[in-house]
Amino acid sequence: APRTVLISGCSSGIGLELAVQLAHDPRQRYQVVATMRDLGKKGTLEAAAGKALGQTLTVAQLDVCSDESVAQCLSCIQGGEVDVLVNNAGVGLVGPLEGLSLAAMQNVFDTNFFGAVRLVKAVLPGMKRRRQGHIVVVSSVMGLQGVVFNEVYAASKFAMEGFFESLAVQLLQFNIFISLVEPGPVVTEFEGKLLEQVSTAEFPGTDPDTLSYFRDLYLPASRELFHNVGQSPQDVAKVIVKVIGSARPPLRRQTNTRYTPLTALKAVDPSGSLYVRTSHRLLFRWPRLLKLGLRCLACSCFRTPVWPR
Ligand code: NAD
Repeated sequence: APRTVLISGCSSGIGLELAVQLAHDPRQRYQVVATMRDLGKKGTLEAAAGKALGQTLTVAQLDVCSDESVAQCLSCIQGGEVDVLVNNAGVGLVGPLEGLSLAAMQNVFDTNFFGAVRLVKAVLPGMKRRRQGHIVVVSSVMGLQGVVFNEVYAASKFAMEGFFESLAVQLLQFNIFISLVEPGPVVTEFEGKLLEQVSTAEFPGTDPDTLSYFRDLYLPASRELFHNVGQSPQDVAKVIVKVIGSARPPLRRQTNTRYTPLTALKAVDPSGSLYVRTSHRLLFRWPRLLKLGLRCLACSCFRTPVWPR
């Protein structure tokens, strides 16, 4: 029988692509429940799903921040059984800390961290009873290492990494697997809009030096990074499809080999100083070198994956 896959945040980006790719699986291994907070936005997904709509893909409402919404969604799934849960819904937050509200920060944790925890709590009893299941988490390379001006977003992804790595140990005993997928920069509409918005945002209470570091150094570097090493949501979804299809799913999987030279900086120096100092130098001392470095990454000077596959 096909495996029921429930995915959160499918109105756009990675979630939408993943839902469509799984629904078009040539071996029809999956029954996809593609969920989104606002069903008014289902048009793009339905168009992309084409003939799969109503066959191997159904669309359902799900707000990961609401207990009622989660309960309602699961009650509509036949038998309430979810074989594969993909925690994809997420929000970003970028900018100087002093200019961000606590409420905005809490929203990031409510969505990215507690949203995933809420869904896991809801599907876990069924998975444990059936002694099978797979929980996939769309984390980020920012779940592995912090990135300047992304403190709260990175913290929310670190929280996910710690939570799910801890849970993975117990769940192995129930034949339930956990996979943290860690994309680098992904070019989605969302990212472009976010960068546009923050370039004109005020960030009240922030000193002029910090504002200038953010606007004049970080934002251009970030645009450059997305331009040079950004992946498409399609490519990220392809990696997740492989992870879901594998007999022994990995605990961690990075999706972008062009980004691995940066994540490797942390892996080769457990003290953490190499990564922090290199990031600092690239941003504040050698912005030109950053441009060059990113070009090199893009030109595949470092194409050879650092991690053996
Ligand atoms: P996206 O904005 O297109 O997708 C995120 C989706 O989550 C949106 O459809 C949004 O409506 C949904 N969402 C937000 N709050 C929700 C809620 N309360 N309930 C249900 N859905 C909600 O961007 P994306 O890049 O496709 O992001 C998908 C995941 O990938 C996120 O977890 C994000 O953190 C992660 N990620 C993104 C990037 C990137 O550069 N874009 C990089 C690494 C990881």
